[in-house]
Amino acid sequence: MGELYADVIVDITHEKLDRPFQYRVPERLRGKLETGMCVTVPFGNGNKPLQGYVIGMGEECKFDPARMKAILDIAQKGVEAEDKMIALAAWIRKNYGSTMIQALKTVLPARQSVKRLENRMLERLMTREEIISLQGQCRRKKQVAKERLLGELAEQESIPYEWVTGKLGVSPQTVRGLEQAGVVRVVSRESFRNPVKLCAEAEPPRRLSPGQQRIVDSITQDLDREIPGVYLIHGVTGSGKTQVYLELIENVVKKGRQAVVLIPEIALTYQTLLRFYRRFGDRVSVMNSTLSQGEKYDQCQRAKQGEIDVIIGPRSALFTPFPRIGIIVMDEEHEGSYKSESSPRYHARETALQVARLHGASVVLGSATPSLEAYYRAKKGEYKLFTLTERLTGATLPKVWTVDLRQELKEGNRSIFSRKLQELLADRIQKGQQSILFLNRRGYAGFISCRACGHVMKCPHCAVSLTEHQGGRLLCHYCGYSQPKPTACPVCGSRYISGFRAGTQQIEEKLKAMFPGVRCLRMDGDTTKTKDSYQKILSAFANREADVLIGTQMIVKGHDFPSVTLVGVLAADLSLSMGDYRAGERTFQLLTQAVGRAGRGELPGEAVIQTYQPEHYAVVHAAAQDYEGFYEEEILYRELMGYPPVSHMLAVQVFSETENGGAQAAEYLAREVKNSPEFQNPACGLRLIGPAPASMEKINDIFRFVFYLKCAEYDTLIHIKDMTEERVRGWQRTETVQFDFDPMNIL
Ligand code: ADP
Ligand code: ZN
Ligand code: ZN
Repeated sequence: MGELYADVIVDITHEKLDRPFQYRVPERLRGKLETGMCVTVPFGNGNKPLQGYVIGMGEECKFDPARMKAILDIAQKGVEAEDKMIALAAWIRKNYGSTMIQALKTVLPARQSVKRLENRMLERLMTREEIISLQGQCRRKKQVAKERLLGELAEQESIPYEWVTGKLGVSPQTVRGLEQAGVVRVVSRESFRNPVKLCAEAEPPRRLSPGQQRIVDSITQDLDREIPGVYLIHGVTGSGKTQVYLELIENVVKKGRQAVVLIPEIALTYQTLLRFYRRFGDRVSVMNSTLSQGEKYDQCQRAKQGEIDVIIGPRSALFTPFPRIGIIVMDEEHEGSYKSESSPRYHARETALQVARLHGASVVLGSATPSLEAYYRAKKGEYKLFTLTERLTGATLPKVWTVDLRQELKEGNRSIFSRKLQELLADRIQKGQQSILFLNRRGYAGFISCRACGHVMKCPHCAVSLTEHQGGRLLCHYCGYSQPKPTACPVCGSRYISGFRAGTQQIEEKLKAMFPGVRCLRMDGDTTKTKDSYQKILSAFANREADVLIGTQMIVKGHDFPSVTLVGVLAADLSLSMGDYRAGERTFQLLTQAVGRAGRGELPGEAVIQTYQPEHYAVVHAAAQDYEGFYEEEILYRELMGYPPVSHMLAVQVFSETENGGAQAAEYLAREVKNSPEFQNPACGLRLIGPAPASMEKINDIFRFVFYLKCAEYDTLIHIKDMTEERVRGWQRTETVQFDFDPMNIL
């Protein structure tokens, strides 16, 4: 028998060591060692023992056998990964750019099994009727938190303790009080095996609507014939998408295969989870960021051993080591949080497609406002498109008023509230109905527009908004173009040209001045600093402890408030002018979601969109709730400017301790790109933009520079990335580089 050799990636996050090293497999480890295992190897001149992953094995020696070192041992607490996981890590590394180690760490489960946390449940000791009567007493005494908890206990016999103190915002003292009064007791369960089994009754089977049935039949037919496909379900919230997912997953599970359900963390509510538990009982599990490392590891073990069939979670749930996935569902597919913000900056949608390829699985995407990417592919016939048009809950879409703020100014109204919004707010407050005021500030404040004519200062090269920088200059964050800030509008000559300065706090003050005695809740970065404040505000509003909820984009997602009958969008322009090619798409999504918040219950809703650009297509189509119309205009812009999804973009970010060094390194890399055969060949259609200082020029004393590449062929960008990595490996500089393919935000 010949020698056996293993390729090992050493666990150091450093570009220069990011290649496999070959080691001899000693006799005693033969038959035991497998691809994906974690091993200890001697490294460097001092033969320091380090840990690494085996990414391949073979009999060919690629290196001087006399100097070849041997693997010391299989690491004690190491986990062995499936071959598929390693293949996936390699794919992520190739397509998004990162070290192999970073890619492996992304897809492999947490290394060690940490001691399990105890799982506590709150159980009620009284009948439903007694609880309801107690709830009435609390209401009269204005004990809001207690009332909220009792309301939940009336519906469910037991609730996870974490949920009570977290999502419901009830203090441990209140729980102790109820315990002493004999209303509830706290019980401990030893594992996380099934957090909601106790309270979930089986869901009664439901007749699907004809629209739902058509989708289920079509996808199931493909599944039965083992033709994996990619499907996009375009349907408003409440149109029955989740019901379709449940049906499809059941079919897949019956065939002995597994399902991954991706839901953005913020939309992962207890209600949604319950629906899955009611269908699949303890064969389903959750993966989310509140789980400890040990719990995550446990979920992976259970998945591997076939104890569960369905996993629900945000993007990392994709890496659950199931033996044979049959379907991957991705709800709210347009959500920005599906893209990782640290290296490797993978997108869960594309990665889901790759996981599906490895398993022969189908992918179902769902959204009320599909991403341009998904809709574009659907239009090209790469994905099969389904549409659900009606809300099954019976609620109707709200009536929308678009208010022209330029006109308000002309007619002498300088308040942040238009006359229409004032009128409707007064009406709701008087009737005791709830309203939401939404300021879609995205942290990219600083754009300049004319309050008289709505003109926005744009980059002449990139067709995105310019933003104001220190020193009063306006800057394009893609190409670095800059110009002095004008003192008068170049179109109409008005001097009312400036940024939009109002924040949520100011809105609250103005509202209180206008409607004395109005009860407000405010939700923004300031009021949600502590861990549970977000849920506390939401549940307080749901309990009708306020008339108006004022907030940033966090309030338009996830939660349902049936008693809200008015939504006011204070300045739609803020997100329109983000200095980013996705500004139109984001605005359309935000406005559609915001408008959809009104009238979820029995009473019909109304929405007011205030804007300086009422003729902008994102505003017009959002007001009309017309996705198709929006798409047709937006895709023309992407085509014209060569932005994704029509073309692809690669952002190359350079990090440096010195401004000079960073600028030089970025210049050097950009020059190397220009000298590359791809750039020299006009048929490649490769374009370079920048380099320029990043929009956040300096963070934690590290200077950032960025340049962008545009190309219709993704593979060409991969070549450029590989070439750049090569240059970085070879240089003596201290700068580091990161890549971002089809970036979601300006860098
Ligand atoms: P989405 O996921 O699109 O928001 P859901 O699947 O959650 O929609 O459905 C919205 C509401 O309609 C839920 O309360 C659900 O229970 C109900 N529903 C779904 N499908 C049906 C159906 N076929 N018949 C009656 N009600 C349904
Ligand atoms: Zn003007
Ligand atoms: Zn530009």
